[in-house]
Amino acid sequence: MTILVVGSVAFDALETPSGRRDRCLGGAATHFALAASYFTDVRVIAVVGEDFGPEEERVFTLRNIDTRGIEHVPGKSFFWSGSYMKNLNEAQTLRTDLNVFQTFSPKIPPEYQDSEFLFLANIDPVLQEEVRREMPNVKLVCGDTMNYWIKDHAENLARVLKDLDVLLINDTEVKMLAKDPNLVQAARKVLDMGPRALVVKHGEYGATAFFCDRSFADGASVIVPFRAPALPLAEVVDPTGAGDSFAGGFFGYIASQPALTPAVFRRAMFYGSVMGSFAVERFGTERLQQLAPGEIEERFALFRQLSHLE
Ligand code: AMP
Repeated sequence: MTILVVGSVAFDALETPSGRRDRCLGGAATHFALAASYFTDVRVIAVVGEDFGPEEERVFTLRNIDTRGIEHVPGKSFFWSGSYMKNLNEAQTLRTDLNVFQTFSPKIPPEYQDSEFLFLANIDPVLQEEVRREMPNVKLVCGDTMNYWIKDHAENLARVLKDLDVLLINDTEVKMLAKDPNLVQAARKVLDMGPRALVVKHGEYGATAFFCDRSFADGASVIVPFRAPALPLAEVVDPTGAGDSFAGGFFGYIASQPALTPAVFRRAMFYGSVMGSFAVERFGTERLQQLAPGEIEERFALFRQLSHLE
């Protein structure tokens, strides 16, 4: 099974209490693709500038990620600078330079047309919508977004939400999107905007899934939550990409299974947490570039211990 992901491939400048990096390979699609690549085949649609060279390309190809959909154009790649000095759970954006993404029009290579799963990683909702429209036959569509797009691109985002199976989003962003400070009420409102399920990421406190059940006669939506914890770690070196790595583990696991059952969905929440816990142990994508065989299952076993009652 194959996941097609569209999103940012970027260079990031990062500062955290553990140190700083002026230029790391980053971007939502990069973190997602690396995490998902441990579970299934991944294809990427993005645009990069002349600063993206063979060294960066190798990060993808070493994990067998298909990069034929990464377009190279003159100019600079997307650049994002973030700080976690005030709060390790929430990035403070210092700078966003869209650069080559400003004029990007996604082109889906013919070889990508048979992808079964689609992930709309964090990027301009107009681009997410374009790719969604060109892939009408996928089995499942998941998506992410962030405050940057919620604040000033709400109408475009609303169109994307109508057509999503699962929305994965941070808890401050779900409240911002719903204009409601209560998590459950906000989740209910966001589910009413379209997605069939919502996965809310709480940083070091884990993630909660909310499902919509419209089978009641009056059409009322009933919310049934499920929470997976995050692994308590002695040091969080760099939280950048934790959310996208969660999404990669979550969706990658789902794509690797024969069918999406409630049990698969719940296990996917744990595989998401496993990949998020690796991502934060080093700067940028360093940790997810080369996990050793067995590390994922070992950590999954730790999560079992962490949350099992009997
Ligand atoms: P997260 O998983 O939420 O920590 O995502 C971090 C990644 O998102 C970074 O590597 C950034 O390059 C990327 N990013 C930050 N802002 C944006 C934006 N406005 N649009 C797309 N990608 C972004």
